[in-house]
Amino acid sequence: MMKLWTSGLLVGGALMASSMSSHASDAQGAMGWSHPNVTVEEAAPAPHVKSTAKEAAAAHPMVSRHHESVKESKENPHRDMSSFHHSIHWGYTGIGAPQYWGDLKEDYVLCKEGRQQSPIDISAATIASLPNMQVDYQATPLDILNNGHAIQVNYAAGSSITVAGKNYKLLQFHFHSPSEHTIGGKSHDMVAHLVHKADDGQLAVIGIMIDGGGSENAFIGKLWSAFPSASGDHNTPEGVEINVTDLLPKDLNHFNYSGSLTTPPCSEGVNWFVLSAPVQVSDAQLQQFRSSIFHDARPVQPVNGRVVRLGN
Ligand SMILES: [Zn+2]
Repeated sequence: MMKLWTSGLLVGGALMASSMSSHASDAQGAMGWSHPNVTVEEAAPAPHVKSTAKEAAAAHPMVSRHHESVKESKENPHRDMSSFHHSIHWGYTGIGAPQYWGDLKEDYVLCKEGRQQSPIDISAATIASLPNMQVDYQATPLDILNNGHAIQVNYAAGSSITVAGKNYKLLQFHFHSPSEHTIGGKSHDMVAHLVHKADDGQLAVIGIMIDGGGSENAFIGKLWSAFPSASGDHNTPEGVEINVTDLLPKDLNHFNYSGSLTTPPCSEGVNWFVLSAPVQVSDAQLQQFRSSIFHDARPVQPVNGRVVRLGN
């Protein structure tokens, strides 16, 4: 797993970034936007897309996968340590690191056996006539905590997005560094994940890429002034309101695909919207985050034939 991470970032990233750019102009005409590091293809007619998905599934039947994992686990030295592992809390380094999440608890099995995991490297995308994403975020009293894995801001009821007629209510947003998803093999300094839930229980997450090197970001400044440095810290400063609309980039062009939570239990069926335009913070603001949360990003996972679509 560590090897994947390294090759994705350094080797794969450099290769992809250079070989992808030639197709970028094709996308511009059809969609009005593109990403320099992403290959963009015209959407195939719907029936073809369906059969492609079926073929992909047939190439990796669940049955044989399960046989493999049973065989693996018999020979897996970690198996004998399972009772030991059960007492280990998941994290990003050492014995609780992402490559072991699937062994820490039975509930976390998707972290190692799931076929639709996140994050991924987005290096190819299909133009599809996706409905626009409608965003309706209201102001909320600032409620910020350090949960030991991430800095999280809880959101009061009344804010949501609507995509394809489906409404997802905003529950919370949190930050990772570096960005988890990569685009054309490149990661960003940080990411904000805006977590939404529909009435049927489906999750939708918007990823906003964040880079240092900019001027001070007023929205982040408001959050960081209540920064909960230590694990377990929780601040609700009196009279401070924020609106996450203030963090959104001007355009909401995004990559859409079906993935998972990027933390245990790695549940799948998450509707991902990774915005292509990054926003900026100052180096000091980036440093303030990193001095407290050193690294909280899961490495990229195999795409396994999933289709990434372009939307706005
Ligand atoms: Zn996240």
